[in-house]
Formats: sequence, C-alpha cells, structure tokens
Amino acid sequence: MTATPDVELTEPFTGTGTITNPATGTEAGRVSWTDPADVARVAAGLRVAQREWEARGAKGRAKVLARFAVWLGQHRDEIERLLIAETGKSAVDAAQEVPLLLMIAAYYIKTMEQALAPETRPAALPFLAIKKVTVHYRPRAVVGIIAPWNYPVANALMDAIGALAAGCAVLLKPSERTPLTAELLLRGWLESGAPEVLALAQGARAVSEAVIDNSDYIQFTGSSATGAKVMERAARRLTPVSLELGGKDPMIVLEDADVDLAAHAAVWGAMFNAGQTCVSVERVYVLEPVYDQFVDAVVRDVASLKTGAGDGHNFGALIDESQVAVTERHVADALAKGARALTGGSRPAGAGSFYPPTVLVDVDHSMACMTEETFGPTLPIMKVATVDEAVRLANDSPYGLSASVFSGDVERAREVAVQLDCGAVNVNDVISNLMCTTAPMGGWKDSGMGARFGGADGLRKFCRQEAVVVPRTTVGAGGNYYSNSLRALKRMNGLLTKLALIGPRRAAK
Ligand code: NAD
Repeated sequence: MTATPDVELTEPFTGTGTITNPATGTEAGRVSWTDPADVARVAAGLRVAQREWEARGAKGRAKVLARFAVWLGQHRDEIERLLIAETGKSAVDAAQEVPLLLMIAAYYIKTMEQALAPETRPAALPFLAIKKVTVHYRPRAVVGIIAPWNYPVANALMDAIGALAAGCAVLLKPSERTPLTAELLLRGWLESGAPEVLALAQGARAVSEAVIDNSDYIQFTGSSATGAKVMERAARRLTPVSLELGGKDPMIVLEDADVDLAAHAAVWGAMFNAGQTCVSVERVYVLEPVYDQFVDAVVRDVASLKTGAGDGHNFGALIDESQVAVTERHVADALAKGARALTGGSRPAGAGSFYPPTVLVDVDHSMACMTEETFGPTLPIMKVATVDEAVRLANDSPYGLSASVFSGDVERAREVAVQLDCGAVNVNDVISNLMCTTAPMGGWKDSGMGARFGGADGLRKFCRQEAVVVPRTTVGAGGNYYSNSLRALKRMNGLLTKLALIGPRRAAK
C-alpha cells in the first residue's frame, strides 16, 4: 500500500478559499467550501430530483446529455483557460480533457438506451422455461463521485456522465486542490437546460466523508491509501464502491521494436501532464540489444520539450510543492543508490512548482523510483537480458493498473501482455486504452476494485439489478407448495433431481 502524501494540506476548508496557480503563484480563483453538515441536505435534494430524472427514461436523458456535450464543445476555450490557471498545465495537455469527455458522452448517448433496457434471460435449464425471466436495471439514487486533481475536468465528469446516463443523481466532490473547473462544468450542466441532478460538495476529507455517508454508491478516484479509507467508511452503511487507484505502470521494449516509436511513446507517456497521470509510464524495461539506441532516442526527445504553462509549451507545472517533494525524494534516492540522471535531476530556480523531465538510468528495484508511484516527470529505464526478466520485474509491484509492450510482432507482444498482472495493456502505444470505452478500465492489486467503462457495464454498475420472474404457463405452478400432498412433493423432488441430472450425467461420461 502506498504511503500518505509527503505534505498534508492544512487549510481549514471553511468559508471561502483561494486557489493558487501553481505555475505563477498568483490567484487562479476563489471557492466557497461546503460545510460538511450541509451535505445531507444537498444529497436529499438530489434524491428528490433523481426520481423525475429516472422517469425520463434513457431516451429523454440522452437528449439532455447531448445538449450538455454540445455546451462542452462550445465552451472548450473557457474551460481550458480556467484549467490552465488552476493546474499550471501546458495548453496541449489541457486540450485533451474536453475531447475525452465528448468521446465518452458520444458513446453513452449512442448506446445507453440499449444498455439500460430490461434484458430477457433464457431459462437456466429446459424444464425451467415455464418462467420468463427479465432483469431490470434500476439506477441508484445518489452516486457520490470523489475525484483527484490531476485531470480536474476529465476526472470530474468521466464517471459522472455514465452515472447520469444511468438515471442517477451525482454528488461530485472535486479535489480541494482543483475545485474551480468543476464550478464551471456545473454551470454548463444547468445552462444546457439539464435538471438539478448534479451538485457539488467542495472541500477535503470531512466533506468527502459526508459524501460517502450520504450516497448510495461511491465512485472514487485517487491514491490507494485513500481508497482503502473510503472503502472502510462506505462499509459502515454497506455502500458499494468502485475504486480507481494509483499505479506504477511498466513499459517493456522488446529487441524487435520500432525503437523510435517506443521512445516517443515513453517520453509522452511519462511526461504528459508533467507525469501526473495514473496510467503514465512510470518505469521502462528494455531488452539489451536495443537499450542504448532507446536511451539515446529518449534523451533526444526530452531535450526538445518546451517547459511552461499554457500556450507554446509541451510540459507544464506540477500541481504543488507536495508533488515536487515526492519527485525530488525519488530522484535523490535513485542518485544516492547509483543511478544517473541523463536529463533534469534537480529543480530549476524561479517561480512555480516546476520540475524538469528527468531520465534515470542504472536503476533497479532497490530504488523508490522503480517501486513507488512517483506521479511526477521521471522516466527510469532499466536494461534487461530476457523477456522473462522483463515480465518478472514488471509484475514485481503492489500495483497493477496498466502497462505497455513494444514489439515489431504484435502477436509476440500479445503473448507478453497476457503474462502481465494488470487491468490493461497497450501494444505499441501508451494510455490509449482510455479511449476504448467498450473495454473496462480498472486496476488489479492495489490499483483498484471494479472498473469504469466496459461497454454496457459502465452504465449498469450504477444500477441495481432487479430480476422479475413471470409465469409463461400455469402448468406446474405451485408444485412445491405445502398445499400438495407429501407424496406429490416427493414425486416432484424426484422428478427435479432426474431432470437436473440429465446434463451432468452426459458431461461426466
Ligand atoms: P488522494 O487520494 O489524495 O485524494 C483523492 C480524493 O480523495 C480527493 O478528492 C480528496 O479530497 C479525497 N480524500 C482525501 N482523504 C480522504 C479520506 N480520508 N476519506 C475520503 N476522501 C478523502 O489522491 P490525489 O492526490 O488527489 O490523486 C492522485 C492519485 O490518484 C494518484 O495515486 C493517481 O494514480 C490516482 N489516480 C488514479 C486514476 C485511475 O483511474 N486509476 C486516475 C487519476 C488519478
């Protein structure tokens, strides 16, 4: 399990708070923190509004979501400006969040009616066909979404869109580090004519706990350590949880890989969003024959990155000093144990919480940079002798979020992929499984429980299943009731035993 953050946030989270732009140290905006005691009232309001929202049916809700998607598309510039001010991201990084949401929305708008329609299930065995079985998907009233700060726009809505599509109301608790863009998104929801089934609870731990106490389902994204606390709290009311947690994603580069492509992918995968991505490339294992070529190509790519927030840059600020501190600790630990930094390696002078893209070599698993989640701009690269060694090291982690494998032979890469203990593997690419909303995105081991997306499952997870069993015929009805004679009941049980054994007897031969 991961350690708690190096620096605790100490602000009291009462009244109004100031959010600081991490690139400049200036004010990005102000937020009214929610009183934890108020959360029950907000949830009660959502619970009432949810009934009408559910009653609109999937088709009615799809229309509302479509209007909201159009609003998001029309307000991209405004959203991204605020996002950059709130996080210090580069403009190219900030520009990826709204399109991701639009892709998710477009998929659900297209599929939600069918995904949520009652499902007729076949009879379990032929003689049970006297019943018609239908499974109905009934939304949970209030879904509490607790989000991290690394993608304030995408994380706010990537699960909320599915929950709203399913017919739930959503109580969203953004990270206390990035509460501003969520306010703008809520404004957009209401401006696009949607009902008040989306509400915000702004604050830190106390508000989060109140959200857990007042929701019917918890969708949590954040660190593994906090995920465990969330699950413990939710257990008090037997509230189900879905936990999307931290990672230490490995990349494996085989000797037949397109080395330039692998290097471009490693640099983008490690440095995108200044390395603050749950599925970022956190460590690389390269087969010996292409190791030198790969390292040279990576260093060349990193050298051309332009650092700074907003337009004209690739690589932005880290969210705050706590994230810089973790990165500094991992790099110092690696250097002290014999690693070399080929780029970066120390913090530049000047304003803002910047840390340079840092390529580390001569690393091994005694170093924190290879075993703990850094969530910063480091790219540690390790030479390996065999594919088996790469697989063993990749699996030598408490995490299992995702991974990537590079090879000129896609089938060979697939063979490696299915030996990796994690929720998703990208072949000759990184992070791209996030766009595949038909596939589940979930972590193994300390990386999570449950999954987001996954086709119809991505909506049905926010519902309770209700089985409705209707007779097709009156023949055989009540054959096991006490109103039958003891002899008839005995005959009935004998017949059921015989019929149920037809299949097993045949299969056992
Ligand atoms: P965090 O765990 O510190 O905080 C996440 C959320 O939990 C915040 O909203 C916070 O206010 C709330 N919180 C904090 N303490 C709480 C408590 N005791 N009870 C209830 N809620 C509490 O995580 P973070 O620093 O905001 O985000 C970074 C982490 O998120 C990284 O580990 C990253 O890998 C992970 N992450 C995972 C995914 C994924 O999909 N798997 C996506 C993005 C980020």
